[in-house]
Amino acid sequence: MRIGHGYDVHRLAEGRRLVLGGVEIPFEKGLLGHSDADVLVHALMDSMLGALALGDIGKLFPDTDEKYSGADSMKLLAEVVRLIGSQGYRIVNADVTVCAQRPKLSPYISQMRENIAGVCGCEVSQISVKATTEEGLGFTGDGSGISAAAVCLLENKTS
Ligand code: MG
Repeated sequence: MRIGHGYDVHRLAEGRRLVLGGVEIPFEKGLLGHSDADVLVHALMDSMLGALALGDIGKLFPDTDEKYSGADSMKLLAEVVRLIGSQGYRIVNADVTVCAQRPKLSPYISQMRENIAGVCGCEVSQISVKATTEEGLGFTGDGSGISAAAVCLLENKTS
């Protein structure tokens, strides 16, 4: 078995869509980034890559590559899942925490889990998504950005 951790931050800006866990969430701002800036999925992908010491998504999908401009992070996740499969591993479970002062994310959590489980080819029960605020503190608290942290466990398919 291999365990991995991922962490990501994106800045909130006007005139951008807010996409988290593949769900477009109505809000006055969205996350800034080269791709769709789905910070939740970015942290999750980095945890999977980290578990196998395969680097990070910046290495796999460079933001200097026009191919990834506005990219759907769920499609990038599918590529990461394929990569870990090609290395002989499958997902046991993953747990992601998103820190956002606003908007309230609880109405969207079950859809996020379904989206991620669908792309990962696993059961919804293997994918945990949690949301929290940081009590008004720091850059998530003042609404300048959203962060996400993830851990995942992979197992060798032959074990
Ligand atoms: Mg990112």
